[in-house]
Amino acid sequence: MAAKNPTEQIVDVLVPLAVDRPYSYKADEALREGDIVYVPLGSREETGVVWPGSGAKPAKVKLKSVIAKADLRPLPLELVKLIDWIADYTLSPRGMVLRMALRRSAELGAAREKIGVRVTGIKPERMTEARARVLSLLENGLLRSKSEAAEEAGVSPGVIDGLVDQGALETVALPPEPVALPPDADFAVPELNPAQAVAAKELRDAVRAKRFSVSLLDGVTGSGKTEVYFEAVAEVLKQKRQALILLPEIALTTRFLDRFAERFGVRPAEWHSEIAPRKRARTWEGVAKGEISVVAGARSALFLPFRDLGLVVIDEEHDPAYKQEDGVHYHARDMAVVRGSMAQAAVVLTSATPSIETENNARRGRYKRLQLSERYSGTEVPQLEAIDLRKENPGKGRWISPRLENAIKETVARGEQVLLFLNRRGYAPLTLCRSCGFRMRCVNCDSWLVEHRYRKKLACHHCGFEMPPPQHCPKCEAPDSFVPIGPGVERLEEEVRAAFPEARTLVLSSDMAGGVERLRAELEAVTNRDVDIVIGTQLVAKGHHFPGLALVGIVDADLGLNYGDPRAAERTFQLLHQVVGRAGRESVGGRGLLQTYQPEHPVMKALLAGDRDAFYDSEIAAREEAGLPPFGRMVAVIVSAKDGPSAEAHARRLAAHAPISDDVRLLGPAEAPLSMIRGRHRWRLLVSSPRNFDLSYYVREWLAAAPPAKGSVRVQIDVDPQSFL
Ligand code: ADP
Ligand code: ZN
Repeated sequence: MAAKNPTEQIVDVLVPLAVDRPYSYKADEALREGDIVYVPLGSREETGVVWPGSGAKPAKVKLKSVIAKADLRPLPLELVKLIDWIADYTLSPRGMVLRMALRRSAELGAAREKIGVRVTGIKPERMTEARARVLSLLENGLLRSKSEAAEEAGVSPGVIDGLVDQGALETVALPPEPVALPPDADFAVPELNPAQAVAAKELRDAVRAKRFSVSLLDGVTGSGKTEVYFEAVAEVLKQKRQALILLPEIALTTRFLDRFAERFGVRPAEWHSEIAPRKRARTWEGVAKGEISVVAGARSALFLPFRDLGLVVIDEEHDPAYKQEDGVHYHARDMAVVRGSMAQAAVVLTSATPSIETENNARRGRYKRLQLSERYSGTEVPQLEAIDLRKENPGKGRWISPRLENAIKETVARGEQVLLFLNRRGYAPLTLCRSCGFRMRCVNCDSWLVEHRYRKKLACHHCGFEMPPPQHCPKCEAPDSFVPIGPGVERLEEEVRAAFPEARTLVLSSDMAGGVERLRAELEAVTNRDVDIVIGTQLVAKGHHFPGLALVGIVDADLGLNYGDPRAAERTFQLLHQVVGRAGRESVGGRGLLQTYQPEHPVMKALLAGDRDAFYDSEIAAREEAGLPPFGRMVAVIVSAKDGPSAEAHARRLAAHAPISDDVRLLGPAEAPLSMIRGRHRWRLLVSSPRNFDLSYYVREWLAAAPPAKGSVRVQIDVDPQSFL
């Protein structure tokens, strides 16, 4: 019998794939939980993480060996715990949650070493004009990277290599540029107004306590919430711990990064999908080593390997962008609170329009409310007036009522800016054949095609399908028979340009050519008052500070209210309140006009009266009455398949296998409101239970015992669903 290697151990390794359990491997070197390792998997090599064992002895099969330990920091145990927690709660395969934590580090590799060159004083054997240019560029003895030297001297990299071969230049390894410099807590300490000072002190104390706590920084738009939570960041810096700031739309928040730099001297490290892979890998390492102290990022930043997290800020906590709707369905705000509790960190949620969940937690004392009820500039939050479209109708094919048009005219004449809000991209949401009534639909989805006139396309907003507008109706073949129905921002722009040909008009929408760079430039132009009338989708509601904006016109306030969506009222209230909050932030007399067909709707009434509490009172009461979140739990199960009957049959099978429980109510199966997306037919089941019932556990047991999905059938689970489509 061969002698057993004395250090050999058996470890469980979780791989970032759709598996829920770790696999066992033999290891020759001592490994610890959290270590990142390479393991064989089938015929491939995978990166995995040594996972806390289940305690079960592996079956007596021949185990494969770990290939090697990666040259990377181990995942902190806190992150391992968080991954387990999220997998259990969201009912996602553990490996898929791990994938979110590893995805970015998996590009592995430290910074590529840059090689610098400098002159030695030795003359090359043969001097050419190109060589002479390089030598004179480097004459002063300073280091330059090879590529910089070649570029600046206007020579090919081969010329540099030649000079190195000849001994005329020597190479030196350049230290990599840091991904983020250390922020300075005392760089520019602001003078806070009294209300801000009170809130800032509470937040500093929360950080100092080094205990888990959640504070809701509840401040009207423009009250300086950012300035206040920066004081908590400063406290974390003084303690040499780390802070995470989650932002809903980081790709658009250059302004935020600049504000951070104004306060702390440097920009924070950034984390979102547009960061280049190498920089991401280095940021990951920097966070793991504790060299990076502040990260501002999108929801995925939650999975960074912080060493010593002292503060988590969730800016604009009500923003729907925090919910991930594909892959692992998780809500970054809720998971950030979980992470904060694991790290014993202070958590700060900010909003002028908290989510119902958060407002309810604050009302019940679970979260500490810190209130800023006045704008920093001292101006009033704009008063809103309703325009009842039943009485003041703009007329056929138009969307701006006479009263709104007058208000625009006056505002522009005073040299101030107008924002017209319409949450619809494109030119028209529906295109119809005027001779036979045929509607242009997506080939992959159960949805209409939206005309985008700038791009000369009909587009599906669910799957991205596009086609040129047809010359003839596909059904009755009538030529040029299509008419646009309803407005989108592009169509509204047409109306505005016709009415105000002199005004500088701009459409702000996320789907214009040019992407994020263009949007950043356009937002900048609005801030600098290079634009008179802005026409925007929900993109403009997100925290922007436009100093010259005096009038906000909500073109269709009812849009978004009319679905069977339990969150429609909350969403509409938040969105419209935020949009109106963009007006009058620095000048007095900010004004909002809201066009609606239902001014008596509770959401409109609360908005018009400026009575936020009235809205929360009635919405919280209604949710409680109906047992909806946060007073009850909900899990949506979405069954999809390439054909409708398979999806329906499987959904019915699942329903038939649901264990009977007094605590659980099962709704459906029913065809989803969006019955087809990307060629997949969709059926939905919705289960709900009282709050104190472990619904995740129930669903896990249910689905584990139910017949498995076969063929093209897929089952997706959405715990705490935000979308009901
Ligand atoms: P909120 O996030 O609450 O809507 P902001 O944090 O964007 O508000 O603040 C609104 C404006 O007021 C910003 O331009 C900000 O720089 C300014 N501001 C707020 N507080 C202060 C302060 N204490 N000192 C200087 N400027 C401030
Ligand atoms: Zn589609």
